[in-house]
Amino acid sequence: MALAFDEYGRPFIILREQESKSRLRGLDAQKANISAGTAVARILRTSLGPKGMDKMLQSPDGDITITNDGATILEQMDVDNQIGKLMVELSRSQDYEIGDGTTGVVVMAGALLEQAERLLERGIHPIRVAEGYEIASKIAVDHLQQISHKFEFNPTNIEPLVQTCMTTLSSKIVNRCKRSLAEIAVKAVMAVADLERKDVNLDLIKIEGKVGGKLEDTELIYGILVDKDMSHPQMPKHIEDAKIAILTCPFEPPKPKTKHKVDIDTVEKFQTLREQERKYFDDMVQQCKDVGATLVICQWGFDDEANHLLMHRNLPAVRWVGGVELELIAIATGGRIVPRFQELTAEKLGKAGLVREKSFGTTKDRMLYIEHCANSRAVTIFIRGGNKMMIEETKRSIHDALCVARNLIRNNSIVYGGGAPEISCSIAVEAAADKYPGVEQYAVRAFADALDSVPMALAENSGLQPIETLSAVKSQQIKEKNACCGIDCNDAGTNDMREQNVFETLIGKQQQLLLATQVVKMILKIDDVISPSEY
Ligand code: ADP
Ligand code: MG
Repeated sequence: MALAFDEYGRPFIILREQESKSRLRGLDAQKANISAGTAVARILRTSLGPKGMDKMLQSPDGDITITNDGATILEQMDVDNQIGKLMVELSRSQDYEIGDGTTGVVVMAGALLEQAERLLERGIHPIRVAEGYEIASKIAVDHLQQISHKFEFNPTNIEPLVQTCMTTLSSKIVNRCKRSLAEIAVKAVMAVADLERKDVNLDLIKIEGKVGGKLEDTELIYGILVDKDMSHPQMPKHIEDAKIAILTCPFEPPKPKTKHKVDIDTVEKFQTLREQERKYFDDMVQQCKDVGATLVICQWGFDDEANHLLMHRNLPAVRWVGGVELELIAIATGGRIVPRFQELTAEKLGKAGLVREKSFGTTKDRMLYIEHCANSRAVTIFIRGGNKMMIEETKRSIHDALCVARNLIRNNSIVYGGGAPEISCSIAVEAAADKYPGVEQYAVRAFADALDSVPMALAENSGLQPIETLSAVKSQQIKEKNACCGIDCNDAGTNDMREQNVFETLIGKQQQLLLATQVVKMILKIDDVISPSEY
């Protein structure tokens, strides 16, 4: 696209290959964009909340994903409209920053867009709408801060943290086991948390899954789990006080590469070569033993002869362990990765209280548990489940729960959930709208209406009458001055979310509003869409 001027100084736009481009301008562009955005949001709307529906998505190569997580649904949906992609991006950034609330943020953005369309039709300029939204989102975010509660917990009493994680898990497919999964998530986070610096490194929590068993068998391992077994079936399966050599160098005699030539023309020569190789390897094994290693973990393999020798010399070994796992093993056991065999020394060995091999089911499935490590900060969550889809979804749900626990450690403010914060913000924004003399006032009110759509979606998904329920709860909030009244999705008999123990993190809720407003503002400011036309 280029801008040029004619002889009278009037500007015009030159579009390269004009006829093959389609172009939308002004209000048409905004309307088309809004409808694309709301279309995406409408898909997610039914997935919101504890009674939300799940989606089944099939990838081009036939893999099936069943999920309730907003970010995952959008990720797999293969949206190809540009504005649709912005919504995908929106959900992803919520996932990246907060981890939970990925459905809610898109539902909110969709509602803002719907309201904006109405305002545009009434002739309000998009910039005015954008400004009004900005004002309103600021009011709402401040209001959230006001209605937030401090949330006390300490390492000995993790119950409150568990409760919050349970809220997150209650909207997932795995909610059958939400109690045990929430406990696992919280314990895992507490194990790796640095409570002084208020920081949690989620990289130290590894999530592994294996098909088979029940969801209830999911366990937390204070250590790491490697999907490998001892290289020889007769090696010990149970090593206490293991000293582990972690090798990324080949653990075998140097092999002749293609460029080398070895002439073997007699049996004797072959025998000597073989003898030499054996001796070389024998020396390597001896060196390991000399530094005190009782277990060798290698990135590379060794052949069956070496394997036999290792068994013979009573030095258990694990081969073909991936780089990421090696790093985790090194972190957990306080060992050093040894890239050159000559550099193996006693200080570089990792220490673990117990290394054991466990087998599953009737198959030959075996895994290696490395537990009670010197530096026990790395932990593993080991998920069992009936099929691969279930395990994948459990992984995603646990990830959400881990993020929630981490957010609470970072900042222990919470708001009560179930749509209560949205209703409360809506009331506050509505009340503040009158203070604005300009046209922004309409946009501020529209923002308040958009906020209502989250509790409405919750009510609708739970089979309640959306408008009736919302107005009842809203009037209750105003009458009782209680910002904790939300939608009673599970029919628990009370609207007070404090009694239902449904809460969410403050930063998560604030981030939802901020991100949704930002994206909507961006969409509203687009007034020219030039794209290659379809043919
Ligand atoms: P997201 O991906 O946005 O986290 P969810 O499907 O997890 O979407 O739904 C979250 C919404 O459901 C939040 O508004 C939360 O407050 C609400 N919620 C979760 N559990 C309950 C419950 N037991 N009762 C009422 N509302 C709930
Ligand atoms: Mg959630």
